[in-house]
Parts: sequence; structure tokens; C-alpha cells
Amino acid sequence: LCQVTPRERQVMSDVRNLIIIGSGPSGYTAAVYAARANLEPLVFEGSVTAGGALMTTTDVENFPGFPDGIMGPELMDKFRAQAERFGAELISDDVTAVDLAGDVKTVSLADGTTYRARAVVLAMGSGYRKLGLEGEDRLSGHGVSWCATCDGFFFREQNIVVVGGGDSALEEALFLTRFAAKVTLVHRRDALRGSKIMQDRAFANDKLDIAWNSEVAEIIGEHQLEALTLRDTVTGETRRMDATGLFIAIGHDPRSELLTGQVDLDDDGYVLTQAGTTATNLPGVFAAGDLVDHRYRQAITAAGTGCSAALDAERYLADLD
Ligand code: FAD
Repeated sequence: LCQVTPRERQVMSDVRNLIIIGSGPSGYTAAVYAARANLEPLVFEGSVTAGGALMTTTDVENFPGFPDGIMGPELMDKFRAQAERFGAELISDDVTAVDLAGDVKTVSLADGTTYRARAVVLAMGSGYRKLGLEGEDRLSGHGVSWCATCDGFFFREQNIVVVGGGDSALEEALFLTRFAAKVTLVHRRDALRGSKIMQDRAFANDKLDIAWNSEVAEIIGEHQLEALTLRDTVTGETRRMDATGLFIAIGHDPRSELLTGQVDLDDDGYVLTQAGTTATNLPGVFAAGDLVDHRYRQAITAAGTGCSAALDAERYLADLD
């Protein structure tokens, strides 16, 4: 018979089944599924940004089940309440270090507290790059947006400015021409970075203008976006452009700093998962949501992969037992 010392027993007993890092649609959905499977998950929600990206927006009209739409923070409160209802333990703190390689994974906080588990779901999301201008955050959801798929519908027959010069900016700008009276793509240089085919489409679209050698210098509006000041990047001259929509499409960064040297990441820092699953290269470590996905980036897709991650973790743990 295997002899277990009291110290070993105490160390063993603080090893949980599952830790989830992240509190957006993917983390909370993973928590609902894991809690309902009796895994008693522990969720780290983050300190300032608990609730994820939707906490910074207003109306969400494309999350199924809410035919009249719902405010982003209210939707996330519901996700949270559902996870808590089934017994998920939530901690509003940031994970600052992880050790994910062994059979028992360790997660640490800034104050040195550590938590251990046999499986981990990574769901830290990604952040949109910002212009860094006054008014940008204040008017988020009030004319300023980072997602044409999410918000384009709100801008019917309006003047919209899109900032960026790569394929995703062109894609956003072209998509927005379906709704807008006019779309102006503001680009710092005199040539776009996007692919030839996207550029040809942009040049052929009557509703799309390009403001070359230009950058947004000022966001104007108290409670709602009213106009922008554009600065010529060659001459330095400024001019006012009336616009009720500003879409910022200069890229996004996964929150994967913690994971460098631990799980495999792609060249842009997104977590790589095995095709058709949420499994990373490390046994017992699963990843979901915008931390993995740079293609769809929607609340419903993040929730979907959060569910998959919990189911993958559940099967992994069942195989260990
Ligand atoms: P996130 O929602 O980004 O959540 C991750 C969270 O994990 C972080 O916010 C933080 O709280 C936590 N976290 C991160 N690192 C740590 C750490 N080290 N320790 C502890 N916690 C950590 N999608 C739609 O479908 N419809 C919309 O209308 C829509 N509107 C949007 C409007 C805005 C302004 C933005 C920014 C996004 C919008 N999106 C919309 C996109 C959608 O919000 C994202 O696709 C979705 O939130 C991604 O979910 P996620 O769980 O992967 O990550």
C-alpha cells in the first residue's frame, strides 16, 4: 500500500481539478460547463477588466437569445451569475505567472499566492490596439468602435471613418459601405499594405474614399462622436472631418505574455491549439476565445470554444482518474 505522509496529503488536497484564467464569454462559459460537471472550477477574472471586452461596449445585438439586444455589461453579469449559480469560485485578481508543464499546474498572483490544478483553461482574450487619443475610450459604444461586424448596423446612412491600411482595415471599410452614406479610410502613408485584390475592391467602391498621408489627431464629441481632426502626415496641416462613426482597425494583441516559453504560440502571439480541439501542446492545458482566434472574434464564438475547452478538460481529467 502506498504510504502518504500528512504533508503530502495536505499538498495533494490543495490541487484542484480546474483553473480557468479569464472572464470574458469564453472563460465564463468554460466555468458554467465545468461547474455543472462537478469540477468545482476556480476562475481568475482579472482585476480591472473583469467581464472581458464586452464590458466596454453598449448594445450587443448579435448574441443569440436576446432578440431585443442587451447591453454588454448586463450580458456579462448574466454570464457571471450563471457560472456562480453552479458553484464556480470566482477571484477578481490577475494571474501574474504560470507553470503549466507538469501534471500539476501552478498559477500565481502578484502577492505570491499560488493555486494548483490538474488542468487549466486559458481564456485571457485579446486587446484591440488603440490610437491613444482623448475621447477614444469615453466614446467607445458612442460612435467609436473596433468591430464592424458588431456595430456596422448602427451606422446606417452615416459618415464613417476607418483607420488603418492593412487587409483587416480594408475588409472593415468595405463591409461598412453596405450601411454607411460614405466611408473614408484614413491611412498614414501614400500606399496601402493590404492585398492587391482587397485594394482593387476598395478603389472600385464608389462609397469608399481614401484619405492618404493622414492620421486622426483629435476625436471630437461630448457624449457622441461628432467629428475628427485629421492631420496630414507630410505637411502637418490639420482639417476637420464630420463623422458619426470611427472604426479603429490597426490590429489586436493576444494577452499571452504569461505564456511565453510555456505553450506554443503563433508568430503573432496567439495560442496554437490542435486542429478541431482546444488542446494546446501541453497535456491538461486548453485554450479558448480570442486568445486563440484571430479570425472570428465574436462573443458567441468565444463562448462556443469556452464550452469546448471545458468539455476537453473534463475528458482529460476523466482519463486521469
Ligand atoms: P475577453 O472578452 O477579452 O475576456 C478576457 C478577460 O480575461 C479580460 O478582459 C480579463 O478580465 C481576463 N484576463 C486577461 N488576462 C488575465 C490574467 N492574466 N489574469 C486574470 N484574468 C485575466 N462581439 C460580439 O459578438 N458582439 C458585439 O456586439 C461585440 N461588440 C464589441 C465591442 C467592443 C468595444 C469590443 C472591444 C469587442 C466587441 N465584441 C463583440 C467582441 C467580443 O467582445 C470578443 O470577441 C469576446 O469578448 C472575446 O471573449 P474572450 O472570452 O475570448 O475574451
